[in-house]
Amino acid sequence: MRDVVVIGAGPAGSTAATLLAREGFDTLVLDQAIFPRFHIGESLLPIDLPIFENLGFEAGDGAFLKKCGAEFIDERSGSFSEFLFVDGLSGTPPYAYQVDRATFDNALLMRTREAGAEVRVGVKVTDVEMLGDRVRVSASDGVHEARYCIDATGQDAFLARRAHTVEPIKGFGVAAVFGHYDPLTEARWKELARTGSIKILMLEQGWSWLIPIESHRLSFGVVSHKATFSPDLLDSVASASKVVQHFTNGAPRTEKRVIRNFSYKNTASHGSRWACIGDAACFLDPVFSSGVSLAMLGAERLVEGLAPALRTNTERSADVTQPFRKKMERAYDTFASLIHSFYNTKLVENLFFVEHPDPEIRAGLISVLAGDVWRTDNRFQEMLLTGRHHRHV
Ligand SMILES: Cc1cc2nc3c(=O)[nH]c(=O)nc-3n(C[C@H](O)[C@H](O)[C@H](O)COP(=O)(O)OP(=O)(O)OC[C@H]3O[C@@H](n4cnc5c(N)ncnc54)[C@H](O)[C@@H]3O)c2cc1C
Repeated sequence: MRDVVVIGAGPAGSTAATLLAREGFDTLVLDQAIFPRFHIGESLLPIDLPIFENLGFEAGDGAFLKKCGAEFIDERSGSFSEFLFVDGLSGTPPYAYQVDRATFDNALLMRTREAGAEVRVGVKVTDVEMLGDRVRVSASDGVHEARYCIDATGQDAFLARRAHTVEPIKGFGVAAVFGHYDPLTEARWKELARTGSIKILMLEQGWSWLIPIESHRLSFGVVSHKATFSPDLLDSVASASKVVQHFTNGAPRTEKRVIRNFSYKNTASHGSRWACIGDAACFLDPVFSSGVSLAMLGAERLVEGLAPALRTNTERSADVTQPFRKKMERAYDTFASLIHSFYNTKLVENLFFVEHPDPEIRAGLISVLAGDVWRTDNRFQEMLLTGRHHRHV
């Protein structure tokens, strides 16, 4: 019998497995995909830097573009605002990365293997049984038994969909359509790579992202919060936007891809001998690029509680996940409240585009945009949490 079976080898699963294997636990990772595999979610947050260090993961070796901040643009009004992470509250990590997810997820998984976990790709999990004294995982390569099971299956949310515990979050993004411009001209790439910042365009029907990725690529997507959504939106936004026209400058674009109904929470994300992390537990909305960070942070926090429990044979107790859930609740509540304000209030006009905002509030906003949400000296974050509209649990 294994100590832990991790289902899913995205950022959540690979982070959890690396940390467990490093502690000496017999860890098996199963993923239905063959890596490297395509994934959307290319813009990371500065709060990942301490996790990368903990994992011994080197992101700054030139494979990934440094991201210094985020720009918000409303072409209808001519408004523009740039938030550089370096202007956050003191102690907030000053930069992040824009990544090709196939390369990034594969590199993280290599760390998992190096840490001593067994990784099997091209293996689909078809059933999970909680047997009281162990968990039995049936997969396309056979049956595996373990003392503990982690569901890190992303939007497939294996356990949640089986138990019908996926609860859509109303009022957030409904659908996204995206593609990649590749290659950009040298001049446009240089312009984008100077700060490597993500550009968010404000639109009538939602918003749009422009993310530069090594090398000479531009990820471009549109998120709609309207139920009447057509993938043609990508083309109409591209042809109407001077900003998109400027940066793409005739570059060819890949096929469009569409993702729908991505905003939800899993209302039963833990139990005796099992826990869900990453998107399998909750995904809010892509607007502030929090998905990968919350997936990796959740994995790290879970292992903080699970490793001592495995060592003392107390992993059966569902209490193992309590500290993890408490810590993640603050992060999910903060981002959920920010996203709610983004879609439902004049947050962007009244704060993002204001010429002389309260400097402390601005720095606090930048720290939240950086994912630095566990500090207790952020007045802006406290305002978000006081007026919170969405609770994670
Ligand atoms: C439109 C859009 C844009 C986004 N943009 C960003 C962004 O800019 N920045 C950001 O941080 N996040 C972004 N995200 C979110 C981000 O992609 C996810 O939050 C992140 O990938 C979650 O990681 P994960 O490890 O939980 O899941 P995943 O990365 O999805 O990994 C799950 C893994 O589980 C495997 N799996 C699933 N079912 C099974 C099964 N039955 N058996 C075996 N294996 C299985 C899959 O093959 C997959 O490899 C975006 C999301 C959307 C929808």
